Amino acid sequence: MELYYEDPYLKSFSSKVSSVSYSNSHALIALEKTAFFPSGGGQSFDTGIILGKKGSAKVVETKTEKGQVIHICVLEGKIEPGEEVQCKIDWERRYELMRAHTAQHMFFQCLSRFFPNLYVIKDNIDVGRHALFIRSPEPLDFARIADAEKLANQTIKEGRRVIVRWMKKEEAEKGDFRVKLDRIKGSEVRVVEIEGFDKSACSGVHVVNTNEIGFLTLTRLTHEGDEYTLEFEFGEKAKEFLLDMKRITMSASSILQTHPELLERTVEKLKTENLVMQEQLKELNEEVLSRLEPTIKGSVKIYSKIFSGMDSKKLMDKAGELIKEENTLVIIGNRGERGFLLIAKNQKMNVDLKKIAGKAFEIIEGKWGGKEYFVSGAGKAEKLEEAIKFIIENVGGLHD
Ligand SMILES: [Zn+2]
Repeated sequence: MELYYEDPYLKSFSSKVSSVSYSNSHALIALEKTAFFPSGGGQSFDTGIILGKKGSAKVVETKTEKGQVIHICVLEGKIEPGEEVQCKIDWERRYELMRAHTAQHMFFQCLSRFFPNLYVIKDNIDVGRHALFIRSPEPLDFARIADAEKLANQTIKEGRRVIVRWMKKEEAEKGDFRVKLDRIKGSEVRVVEIEGFDKSACSGVHVVNTNEIGFLTLTRLTHEGDEYTLEFEFGEKAKEFLLDMKRITMSASSILQTHPELLERTVEKLKTENLVMQEQLKELNEEVLSRLEPTIKGSVKIYSKIFSGMDSKKLMDKAGELIKEENTLVIIGNRGERGFLLIAKNQKMNVDLKKIAGKAFEIIEGKWGGKEYFVSGAGKAEKLEEAIKFIIENVGGLHD
């Protein structure tokens, strides 16, 4: 018997044990009736404790197997079939899941009002992470999401009842609510309604009134193509999240010497300016590269320079060209996320490049590879200067 459907607020109950079996180090206990929810509708399972006369079982997972609810337990002592046991579910965990699940129905309905062509792929209601996976033919913009959040919070405050009823599959086929009939195994469909607001087929456990959700907010939005993941939080945690966001917004505004309401515009402007500057820097770098002049040390010509944000391939091509000249050594660094370093020599030069590379890449704490006359690799950008200075200073000792 599914006590979690009869009374979703039942925290403890007693039942007769139907069966006990073992799998690895766990005891698998079935009860004649249970309030432990075995996961469903995207909602995670219940945990808790089962107490017998001669033992206690810590329920670490609950699942359905061949239509029967199985409590996966760490058992201490003994629990036997036929005995009466006292059971208690971890209410804090369950109540979070119930509230989150109801919040998920609410959030999806509100989003649908502003984005009419949404499709639910699935939801994932677990402790600490509540997520909704949807497909949308049009991009989800933050302005309309905010409208949906406002509507959700207004509806939460209205204290609407959440009503559950069962209906025949044939009847559900004609219903105007969210249902994936191909996923429903039995002949009956469980329909969860937020009174006058939203209806959907669902096997999860929900609260009975929307005001139990308290407050709802989106906390993270990611997408791959038209598939979106929306994570949300509710109640006190939602408020804490918003306070934290407010702190970040105000602090970022202060760094950029602007006001929070102008932050988006300021960031957009900076982004555009940055793109222009990167383009200019690239042109400048290429100009410098094309005019690179060598320094002479003994009989060796050394081309050496550190660039920033250059395309490494371009630097390698240029080095390849320069080392066609006799007695030529090229040492080029490039600062990016990491420091790029290349060392190349004219092939006829009697220099042990790999030996010097070994030491240079030790300085930048990087990895390298290449040929006798051309090596490159990456390491710490801030150490490039030191490495290049080392190579130049030791160039006299490069000959075997
Ligand atoms: Zn549900």
